Amino acid sequence: MTDPAPQAFACDDAGVYRTLLESTKAIPWRIDWATMRFTYIGPQIEALLGWSPSSWQSVDDWAVRMHEDDRQKTVDFCVAQSKQGVDHEADYRALTRDGDYVWIRDVVHVLRRPDGSVEALVGFMFDITARKQAEDKILQLQRELEVLSYRDSLTGVANRRMFDTLYPVEWAKAHATGEPLSLLVVDVDYFKQYNDYYGHMQGDECLRQVAAVLDAGASRSRDLCARLGGEEFVLLLPATDAEAARNVAERCRRLLAQKELAHARSGVGRLVTVSIGAGTIVPGKQDRAEVFLDRIDRRLYQAKSAGRDQVCDSEA
Ligand code: GH3
Ligand code: MG
Ligand code: MG
Repeated sequence: MTDPAPQAFACDDAGVYRTLLESTKAIPWRIDWATMRFTYIGPQIEALLGWSPSSWQSVDDWAVRMHEDDRQKTVDFCVAQSKQGVDHEADYRALTRDGDYVWIRDVVHVLRRPDGSVEALVGFMFDITARKQAEDKILQLQRELEVLSYRDSLTGVANRRMFDTLYPVEWAKAHATGEPLSLLVVDVDYFKQYNDYYGHMQGDECLRQVAAVLDAGASRSRDLCARLGGEEFVLLLPATDAEAARNVAERCRRLLAQKELAHARSGVGRLVTVSIGAGTIVPGKQDRAEVFLDRIDRRLYQAKSAGRDQVCDSEA
């Protein structure tokens, strides 16, 4: 013998429905379409917003207890959807009696008569404040992460990822406008000896100082100072010709000299110095950004072999 098929649960007892409705966290309500008045609102509304159920008379009570910035678009949207007989939902901030706001998601169902005309709107209000706060927090963290992921954590200047992102953009811009694009690749001299003598912690501090100098040296708003890694930095200088690039490079060297960072084991003097490879290009169709960067890198090594603490901006 098989069990009889389960009967669909049927209940005529309005009291049961009411108990069920009023014991959920979602707040049920009903608005008569002809009069635009509440014919029912769950008593839970008072615990959530502080307004007694009897104070919810017409849709105006609903609209005025809405955050000013949400009111117009929410009311317009709900009215338009309801007129078309379309079920819908809306998120808005509802005013509490204490003057705070609670994020509400209102889920609205359009009730029709047998002839198709709209009889009433029924719906549930859900408190989504916690969800909204979590979403805001996630957005804020994502923004912070985005900023952090483009920043070198040791020195605070842009990192290699930022350079890799911006360099092709500036390259394309220079190609399109015909403006010269300059690059400086900067490397600290005898930094291994610096670390060995002063220790890694002071080495880190030295890199921070050098980064601050280079960042100040590249002073135009579109200039970018990025740490490529180790003790190597790059300055990306859009709309900058060879002479101006040379001036930036020499300014960086001068600013660093003014800091007078002691380097007892340097092979070129008593202070921390840098070597710089520099170059300028108006990118043509055949030119490649990576090839140009390699060329500037080679000039850096020419500056090293020529004695360090200097700028090299042409091939030997
Ligand atoms: P050169 O004058 O030819 O540039 O010689 P150098 O000693 O500066 O160059 P080398 O590449 O031999 O050494 C670079 C040193 O930089 C080695 C490494 O320990 C140090 N270094 C790289 N990254 C960091 C860092 O984040 N912090 C510190 N303190 N040192 C670093
Ligand atoms: Mg070095
Ligand atoms: Mg190096």
